[in-house]
Amino acid sequence: MMKKIALVLVVLLAGCKGNAQKKETTVPTDTKTKTEFAVVKSDAEWQKQLSADAYYVLRQAATETPFTSELLENTAEGTYVCAGCGTPLFKSETKFKSGTGWPSFYEEISGNVAYDVDYKVGYKRTEEHCATCGGHLGHVFDDGPEPTGKRHCINGVALAFVPKSE
Ligand code: FE
Repeated sequence: MMKKIALVLVVLLAGCKGNAQKKETTVPTDTKTKTEFAVVKSDAEWQKQLSADAYYVLRQAATETPFTSELLENTAEGTYVCAGCGTPLFKSETKFKSGTGWPSFYEEISGNVAYDVDYKVGYKRTEEHCATCGGHLGHVFDDGPEPTGKRHCINGVALAFVPKSE
């Protein structure tokens, strides 16, 4: 009889432990997704808000076809902001002609761009995204011009341009 009770207890304890572990692995993941970025929207909301191309780049980390961005040849003074949430990301004075077919900047607006690493093309690249909404912007390389030596290679469709007010 004691043996039977002991066995039941072991089963119950094991069951609790199993549930507790399951909770531990799922809860932090959910919390992280919700608190990582100041602007959080569901996939359906982003799809509704953004053009198909912008959604594909910002939310699916796609790369736009080079030489297709309206902003590529833009030389007006102003600020390039996130097309998803409006956060200022790059200043026009840091834009340069890289010849790659993507809008390029030598410096980000500090604190508004966040970085990650991806191996999508088989080698290590530094991915960059909007620090406010997490929208994918492009990649940064170490072959840019002075004064930083950085080349922020950005998908134009991930950006909106706000001209400097007169
Ligand atoms: Fe954003």
